[in-house]
Amino acid sequence: MRSPPHVAALVVAAGRGLRAGGGIPKQYRLLAGRPLLSHAVGTFQHHDEVGTVLVVIGDGDDDLYREAVPDPAKMLPPVTGGAERQASVLAGLEALVEAAPDIVLVHDAARPFLSAALIGDAIAAVRNGVVAAVPGTPVVDTIKAVDAAGNVVATPDRAGLRAVQTPQAFVFPALLEAHRRAATTGVAGLTDDSSVMEWSGHAVTIFPGDAGNVKLTLPEDFDAAERRMWVAMNDVRVGQGYDVHAFTDGDHVWLGGVRIPHDRGVLAHSDGDVVLHAATDAILGALADGDIGTHFPPSDPQWRGASSDRFLAHAAGLLAARGGRLAMLDVTVVCEAPRVGPHREAMRERMAAILGVGTDRIAIKATTSEKMGFTGRREGLAALAVATVRLPGE
Ligand code: MG
Repeated sequence: MRSPPHVAALVVAAGRGLRAGGGIPKQYRLLAGRPLLSHAVGTFQHHDEVGTVLVVIGDGDDDLYREAVPDPAKMLPPVTGGAERQASVLAGLEALVEAAPDIVLVHDAARPFLSAALIGDAIAAVRNGVVAAVPGTPVVDTIKAVDAAGNVVATPDRAGLRAVQTPQAFVFPALLEAHRRAATTGVAGLTDDSSVMEWSGHAVTIFPGDAGNVKLTLPEDFDAAERRMWVAMNDVRVGQGYDVHAFTDGDHVWLGGVRIPHDRGVLAHSDGDVVLHAATDAILGALADGDIGTHFPPSDPQWRGASSDRFLAHAAGLLAARGGRLAMLDVTVVCEAPRVGPHREAMRERMAAILGVGTDRIAIKATTSEKMGFTGRREGLAALAVATVRLPGE
């Protein structure tokens, strides 16, 4: 084995998983504002010891996948899985043959609380001649074996039992060979990959799992996970933004992503939407990540006349990439005209859609400056924004 070994992560997301509700496969249901699948994939992408990540998806889920995994870093193209988990994993392993990893970590997309530490433990566990290692936790409930009528037939000693999780770690060629042989022999219905290795005659070792690495199956699992994610984002930050544009000849202005008829236009490089510009700067400020000019230099011709949606969406993407969420965006527009009130709800809805949050997290307020100053003289308009964001705690 190379040192350090080439580690590939194979994320299984091919199930239909409709028991969780929401009308779409559970791996695409939103958790903390992001598709469930993106949580584990992101953790693998950001792990220094993982070189390659591949997701096995369900037939027809390509569009959902593209939305869930926008960052191509370390990603191989997704592979369509089979009718059963076992067939899906084999499809994924075959797609990794060319990359020829030393170690493969097989992980279920439904476990979003995967930690970097557990990935490190899984990789470390397959050193020194071990070909298969799976995370397991002690069983705290007494387990009963029952017959078809529900009668207890045995009570195994729980001291000798472990509940196993993923990621399960394997020497890649050994797992590939075992899966191929199981498929050609017609052995099916093995519910995890360590079972395939056991069937194949390989020794499987257990390393300590993580009690927090739970699998989400039912709607109530999602509710509990949502609360847990939100509580874990306990690094609360506030950023502010301010923007001004001068009026010029024209017949409309853009405010909050909404086109508002007016007897003036604004002088701007882009569409001159002061609300979206101030909001973008507020989020960038909360992330201490420069300002709108750093990310979209006015000297760059590609932003000429650009719709400001993309500036705000970019800031939202940076926040999501840090594992964070927007808690509140509060904007004040300062102008004598146009009147903002009639467009307030449309602006809130548009901005909520761009940011992927509920409208209850977007406030739009307006004031005049009592005919004083540049806004009072109707020379231009201004917007102030305050963004409150939550990031995962250290
Ligand atoms: Mg501006």
